[in-house]
Amino acid sequence: MMNQSWVQIRENLEATVGKNNYVNWIEPLELSGLDNGVAVFRVPTNFMGNWVSRNFGDDIVQLLKSSGEAVSRLEFSVGAVRSVKRAPVAAKLPTSEAKAVSSPAVQKSAAQAVPGAPLDARFTFDSFVVGKPNELAHAAARRVAEGGEVAFNPLFLYGGVGLGKTHLMHAIANQLRTQRPDLNVVYLSAEQFMYKFVQALRDKKMMDFKQLFRAVDILMVDDVQFIAGKGSTQEEFFHTFNALVDQNKQIIISADRAPGEIKELEDRIRSRMQSGLVVDLHPTDYELRLGILQHKVEQHLIRDSSLVIADGVLEFLAHRISTNVRVLEGALTRLFAFGSLVGREITLDLAQDCLADVLRSSDRKITVDEIQRKVSEHYNIRLSEMIGPRRVRNIARPRQVAMYLAKQLTTRSLPDIGRRFGGRDHTTVMHGVKRIEELRVTDSQLEDDLELLRRALEA
Ligand code: ADP
Ligand code: MG
Repeated sequence: MMNQSWVQIRENLEATVGKNNYVNWIEPLELSGLDNGVAVFRVPTNFMGNWVSRNFGDDIVQLLKSSGEAVSRLEFSVGAVRSVKRAPVAAKLPTSEAKAVSSPAVQKSAAQAVPGAPLDARFTFDSFVVGKPNELAHAAARRVAEGGEVAFNPLFLYGGVGLGKTHLMHAIANQLRTQRPDLNVVYLSAEQFMYKFVQALRDKKMMDFKQLFRAVDILMVDDVQFIAGKGSTQEEFFHTFNALVDQNKQIIISADRAPGEIKELEDRIRSRMQSGLVVDLHPTDYELRLGILQHKVEQHLIRDSSLVIADGVLEFLAHRISTNVRVLEGALTRLFAFGSLVGREITLDLAQDCLADVLRSSDRKITVDEIQRKVSEHYNIRLSEMIGPRRVRNIARPRQVAMYLAKQLTTRSLPDIGRRFGGRDHTTVMHGVKRIEELRVTDSQLEDDLELLRRALEA
């Protein structure tokens, strides 16, 4: 029953992720269980599990759900996969990832059995877009990545989900592993730390465990809030932490909140965490979101130059998807896949269709009313004139601006927008939107007005 639906879902996935992705990442997955809302897949390598989870996890969950399975998340367990009939995955990777998998640094740590987690080769400083909300965290991460004298210990990065904590940590590790191969850099999640610790206890290998961690030059522990309340793990972490700090080794820690706000964290641990540099990643702002989108599109264009995205689409997404970056990326990934399927320019309309669910759930609820009011104020006309019948230019133009913004910033249909502008026809709205789209290209004053209004509405 379950496997049958997986077979069908796999086929659907092929349509959304594309043939290549399907063959490389989806086909080798083996659904090994479904329990308590968790779908467990067997994968040949850890790296592959991470990759699939990061890139296709949401799609898989969605499809499982829509086929009637009560699934809320995925897990990947590494083990022999029964039905692989293909070459090893690494051989199929794009070169940069393939390198990461077999890089000397990784081999070295494997040889010493230092319990680190694999790094995502895409998480580099180059691919990290810097804006006001994250510039401090970025600067601190850069400094640590130089591998010079330990300036602050620990570096404690915190912030909400999907704001780039893990990305920055991997960027540090990736840079250090290439530029300072002499250093023993270990990155792992607090959960993995606990797992290794429990395993060592069970196998009576605590001495080895301690020795391994004490031999690390730079230790990064991600999502440290996880160990709060976990008594002996917390204790062991504290000892590891102290031993490394005493040896002047760099420690980098991330959490989803400030040290002072992590409940059930022992006081002495909390104060050690606070003793270095504590920086937070603020929620993204419009500029940063737009920057990230533009960066990702540029990256995508290097691989697939056939992609064409209409003006205004990225701005629309940056404006409307204000949750975390992961959601933003997911939206873009879907757009890319969609674009390659339909094989034509991704217009605002197509984007809205394709992302209707995402847009709904992160709806900012800007109303047409609000837009009309702001635009009237801005151009110094009356609200009644905006909605009224007069067609003189100094009223008609602001009206078109408001129609354009209504189309961009709300999910209202053209007929719906028409109704709110004194019962105008949808073709009138369409004409207005087109006109502004044309004009904004050449008229920089108009472009500025639009930007200003958008910001005012977004605030
Ligand atoms: P966190 O660990 O804080 O929950 P992640 O580091 O996993 O968040 O980031 C989520 C996703 O968003 C990743 O794919 C990451 O590459 C991307 N991302 C976050 N911030 C940025 C940024 N400033 N520039 C580029 N990508 C980013
Ligand atoms: Mg993270």
